[in-house]
Formats: sequence, C-alpha cells, structure tokens
Amino acid sequence: MKKTLTLFLSLALILALTSFSAMAEEPVSGTGKGQGIDGDVVVKVTADAEKIYEVEVVEQNETPGIGSVAVEKLPAAIVENNSLMVDNISGATVTSVAIKDAIVEALNEAGIDPAPFQQEISAEDAGEKTAETLDCDVVIVGAGGAGLTAAVRATQEGAKVLVLEKMPMVGGNSLKASGGMNCAGTKFQEAEGITDSGVAEFIEDTMNGGHQLNDIDLVTTMAENSSEAVDWLESIGAPLPKVAATGGTTHKYLHSPEDGSPVGVFLIEKLSAAVEENGIEVMLNTKATHILMEDGAAVGVMAEDDDHVYTVNAKSVILATGGFGSNFELMCSFNPSLANAVTTNHPGATGDGIMMAEEVGAATVDMDQIQLHPTVYQATSMLVSEKMRSLGAILVNQEGVRFCNDLATRDAVSAAELEQTGGYAYIIFDQNLVDHNNSAKEYIEKGMASEGETYEELAENMGLEGDAIQSFVETMDKWNAAVAAGVDEEFGRNNGMDDDLSTAPYYAIQIAPGIHHTMGGIKINPEAEVIDTDGNVIPGLYAAGETTGGVHGGNRIGGNAVCDFVVFGRIAGLGAADYALQAVEEAA
Ligand code: ADP
Repeated sequence: MKKTLTLFLSLALILALTSFSAMAEEPVSGTGKGQGIDGDVVVKVTADAEKIYEVEVVEQNETPGIGSVAVEKLPAAIVENNSLMVDNISGATVTSVAIKDAIVEALNEAGIDPAPFQQEISAEDAGEKTAETLDCDVVIVGAGGAGLTAAVRATQEGAKVLVLEKMPMVGGNSLKASGGMNCAGTKFQEAEGITDSGVAEFIEDTMNGGHQLNDIDLVTTMAENSSEAVDWLESIGAPLPKVAATGGTTHKYLHSPEDGSPVGVFLIEKLSAAVEENGIEVMLNTKATHILMEDGAAVGVMAEDDDHVYTVNAKSVILATGGFGSNFELMCSFNPSLANAVTTNHPGATGDGIMMAEEVGAATVDMDQIQLHPTVYQATSMLVSEKMRSLGAILVNQEGVRFCNDLATRDAVSAAELEQTGGYAYIIFDQNLVDHNNSAKEYIEKGMASEGETYEELAENMGLEGDAIQSFVETMDKWNAAVAAGVDEEFGRNNGMDDDLSTAPYYAIQIAPGIHHTMGGIKINPEAEVIDTDGNVIPGLYAAGETTGGVHGGNRIGGNAVCDFVVFGRIAGLGAADYALQAVEEAA
C-alpha cells in the first residue's frame, strides 16, 4: 500500500513538473506602459524566458514623423535582435525609451525576467562590427568650432588628442556663422579708436540680450577672455581685424575677417589647417555613444562607425557636440509648438553630448530656451533677412491678412506665425524694394518668390483660395494707406514704413519660424568643467560651445556664438590637457 502511494505520488510529481515546464516554455503575453512625448505609450509583448516573439504598440500619441518612426521601427528591431539594447531611433529617443520601458513592464507583468534581454550586445553578436581599442590623452567629441579650437589648444599644451566627428565633414553649425566674433578690449578696437565698447559693456549687453537668464560668471569669463582669444586666433593664422557694431547695439564688438568673408567658413578652414599642422587625428563618420567612467571620473568614450565599435581610452574627455536644433523630439519635449518649425541647423545638431553627459549625472540648464528666427524659407531653410521688413515688407497669413507687428522681436513674431494656419506665413514685397536690396534680388533668382502683376494675381500664385484672395487685396490697400498716414492702427508697427508696397510686380515668399540656436545645455563652470546634478565637478569631463548652457541665457546676441566657442574651446582644451598630463605624471 505504502509502495503504491509512493509510486502514485512520484507519478503525480513528474506529471506536475512536466506540465509546469510545458507551461513555462509556452509564450505568454503582458502589457506595460512608458512615458512618451504626449502621454503613455502602451505595449503588448509576447515572449518566453528566452525569446521575445512579438511587440505591439497598442496605444500612443507620439509626434507624427518623429516619435511615430520609433513606434514603427523599434518593435521589429527588438524582436529581430531579441534584445532591448538595440539603438534608440535617432531623433526619437524619448519615444524609444518609452517603448523599452513599456516592454520591461509588460515582461514583468507576464512573469518573465527582463534581465536577459538587457545585456549589452557585444560587437561580435552585433554581427558586422569589429571591436577596437584606441588610446589618447584627451578625446574630443565633435569637430565644430569648439572641438577644433579645443583640439589645437590641448595639443599646444602637449597632450595627445583624438577628435571624433560623426558627420562626413568638420564644421557643424559653426560653418554657418556669417557675421563675426564679439570681443571686447582688443588691439583691433584700439587701432580703430573704439574706446566705448569694453568688457563691462560687453557683459551688460550679453546679459540684457539674454533677458538676465545668463550665468553671470560664464558671461564674465567669456568677455574677459575674448581679447586674448582673438589674439590667439591671429597667432594660428586666423586674424579678425575688421570691427563693426553688433546688430541691436551701438557698441562695436563684432570682429570679422579682413576680406569680409563669412566668419564661420573662415575660422573652420583656418582651425582645420592648424589641426593638420599639429598632426591631430580627426576621425570622421565616427559617432561617440557613451562616456566611459571609472571611480566617478570620465576616462574615455565608446564610439562607432560603420565597421567598428571603438573603446577610446583617454585621461580626459571634452564634449563639443553642438546644440540640438535638429532634434525635434528633444525640442518638442520642452516646447511642443516647435513641431511645425523648420530649422537652420545642420543635421548633426541632435544634442548627443547633452544626453551622454546626462547619462553620467551631468546637470543641464535652460534647455527650454530655443531661439527662433521668424523668416526662414522652408524648402531650403534659407534665412530671409530681417532687413526686408525694415525696408517695408509685411507678413500675411494664408487667410490673406496681417497678424502681428511685423517688426516686433524675433520671439514675438515667431510665436504669432506659429499660431497661424499651418504654422507659416508669407513675406510680401514689391519691385521698389527689390530695386534697393540685393538680397531680395537673390531670393527671386533662387526661385523662392511667387510673383504677380496685380495683388489678385500674386494671391493666386501664392496659392490663396476663396475669400483669402479678396482679403489679401484689401490688406495691401489698407497697408499702403497706413504707410501714407504713417500710422499702423492695426498692430502699432512704427518702423520700416518709409515706402509702401504699390510698385508692381509684387512678390511673396512663404516663410516659417526657423530654429536657430539652442541656448540651453550641459552645465559648466568657468573652467569648462562639467557640473553634476549635486553641483560637483565631474572629474575629467569638460564641455564647450553650443552643447553647454548658461552663456546666452534666454536669447543669444549675434556674434556671441563664435566668441563662446573660441573662448570656452580654449579653456576646455587647456583644462583637459593639464588634467590628462597630470594623470599621466601621477601614473609614472
Ligand atoms: P560648436 O559651435 O559648439 O562647436 P558645432 O555645431 O559647430 O558646435 O559642432 C558640433 C560638432 O559635433 C558637429 O560637427 C557635429 O556633427 C558633432 N557631433 C555631434 N554629436 C556627435 C557625436 N555623438 N559624435 C561625434 N561628433 C558629434
């Protein structure tokens, strides 16, 4: 009897175990949610302990064309790689992270441990890429104005420098700087007898321009070091001897090349030549992905190109990755109304450095401070000069009517445009204006403008429809009358009203606000050291240029982007080199 019972119990146990293990092997489903740009992203996952079979996004409200790309592509990539460690979809990081968080929650709900799906994918497993290790004293991420300046300065100090640039060319947004570099107390100002544009005035103008949001210590450092910075540029073969007033101020700080060429192209060319002369290696098409940390200090970066995954061992790291004016997902997370804006930024301005720094505990400042320029031609992101409005042009919307004081501040005009149908407007001008402005001629030559012999014809060629055509004609007549009276009763515009818009033919360019500069970014101190969220320096980690925040506050004044990248590029280069060389000495 006892024997029979034992046999029965053993059989029952075997049966139970078999059915339990059969149950465990059976794929199960669970749902989970993650925080997207606009509410929860809800995901249903079917998996067992070893394999993710299906990921379905069942609920989401992500930005079309941005987050929606992650919704479309990421689930398939996760299933294909059987891993949550696949790359986030570029430009859609928030949605990507939301999907991954939702999957973890769904797996947990289904009783499956997510850990096996969260192991780093090794280069070998990833298939194509070969793992390689590189060594240097200072690794610099980004080869725009700040990165190249820092590279030359660090090399002059005796450090072995490696520069990583993710794009196929150097220059970043710096290449697009057209005006000059604001500097105070320079020998070039002295040579021209300019005595009223010193460091104190420069600081005051920068703080006022930035709505007093700026970090006064960083502004002071920039202004006090600007004269030495312009001398240093001359010493490496990049003199900026011409001095003029910056737009909007009466002071003369703006230093530019002798031949009047755009400052960005000039400086990137000269800095690149200095990089070459100093034998500095720049790896193009190589994107840094993470900062390597050891005992709380930055000791290198992970990077990759098409064929390799690099471990770059260094003694110090400089982030010079520029702003995030091409990362709509990130910008929209601070200001959703920007979804309709175009950008004047180069495609590499995606805020990588800010995200890498945050990953290792860095603080950020003023991330919501994003500068818009109100008149950017959408198709090519070309700026239509503010001067057009100063000479008499006006702005109308798709309904054929004006909607604001066309010459209010850039922020105000941009905000008004974004509220119009489609988030865009037209800048209207006439032949008289074209006859007095070369830029206007250029816009017409480039095919940017619609044209009409009458206001009706122009309206039709602009694509206005129905009542909007008649409204446009009335708007033009009303505007011409306002100019004759010298009073804009509708919106209170009080300048740029010397000439009306009555000389045929008439022209219109469709424009929209263009994202121009991201003022916020990584928090640094005046030594260009990165500060963590507790207010402490992260040893070995430096940052300079548009990737940092605090210098420009709520609004950057023209000419200060270049001063920022030269001054803080030099400070970061010197600081990172000294830190690295000291580490080498200590190790010896
Ligand atoms: P700054 O004026 O601050 O120097 P730029 O926009 O001129 O800014 O230059 C930043 C450079 O950094 C660009 O050339 C950009 O392509 C590069 N960059 C951005 N992110 C990365 C990254 N993850 N890895 C390597 N280079 C990067």
